[in-house]
Amino acid sequence: MNVQFLNLLKCPNCSDGEFHLRSFEAHGEQVVEGVISCQGCKVWFPILESVPVISINPIVFEDAVRRVRAKWERTFNFSCNNSITAKMDAPTLELQQKQIEHFAKEVINYDHEISNTTFWKAVDAETIQTWARNRKDKVDVLFEIGCGGGRTTIQFLSAGLKVIASDICLEAIIKAIHNIESMKLNRHNVEFIVAEAENLPFKSTTFSAVSFAGVLHHVTEPKRVIRELSRILKKEGEIYAYDNNASIFRFAFDFLMSISKLWHEQAGTHPQLEAKDIDRWGHEYGIHFTTKSIVFLPPHLFNLFPFAMARKCLSITNLFFQSIPFLKRQGGLIVISGKKGKGES
Ligand SMILES: [Zn+2]
Repeated sequence: MNVQFLNLLKCPNCSDGEFHLRSFEAHGEQVVEGVISCQGCKVWFPILESVPVISINPIVFEDAVRRVRAKWERTFNFSCNNSITAKMDAPTLELQQKQIEHFAKEVINYDHEISNTTFWKAVDAETIQTWARNRKDKVDVLFEIGCGGGRTTIQFLSAGLKVIASDICLEAIIKAIHNIESMKLNRHNVEFIVAEAENLPFKSTTFSAVSFAGVLHHVTEPKRVIRELSRILKKEGEIYAYDNNASIFRFAFDFLMSISKLWHEQAGTHPQLEAKDIDRWGHEYGIHFTTKSIVFLPPHLFNLFPFAMARKCLSITNLFFQSIPFLKRQGGLIVISGKKGKGES
């Protein structure tokens, strides 16, 4: 973590304290391990393997505290009480725990189930890669939620963006760092943070753009995530994302997945998103959303093709079905573009 990163953060426990850094291991401005303590509520949050863990999920928080304590108890006086007072509701806590366990386990399979398949490569080329390349000169720093093992983070970095990426699962982030380093991408163009999308530890109006790929279907209340994203966005800031679409043809996909499972899923309370809900949440939190659906043939089929053919097939079938009035809303994924209003704070 670069020490400058501290300037963007706010305490998710008391919502207003400034942070003070105590580093145990650092190289220049890069802090590898240490703690950041809130001057308001006096809670301190660990930095582990250069990743700050700034979560009010008590399980995530206490696990990280235990790890940093075990390693640095000879260096630092940890005797002070350190407990989160902000309360999380039980359903969110339970679901987050399931997601963390799922992704900590699945991160090993993720590359061959998702990242390296022609279907997801074609989807990303059609969506976030194209978007990111067009935003290179307009976006100072992109904030990404739910970065997992770094599949999309890598694409943002490759497109020339600087990125701050968050996830609730530290193991997934460590895999993302490993992937980025093994691809020889510039590690200094990205900061990672463990945080919940519902309680982002950033000051308001910090980012000019935020993005995610398939995150809302993992949470208990997608609208709380939209509210947080709106809060941290600057005026006229942009959101670009895709997620599972509530298509009437979903049953066909579910049937195919029951015969031949391509990836493992751990969905939340909204396994598929509806365009009208996204519009409504945007209206509530000052973001003007436009949506469209893509992917009208099963992923199984795209995976049979080489990449160039899969991409061409995806592009042509998207254009074709998007021209048919009823069917155009029935693709497997919903692409979400949003802009925060000028008058929003
Ligand atoms: Zn605080």
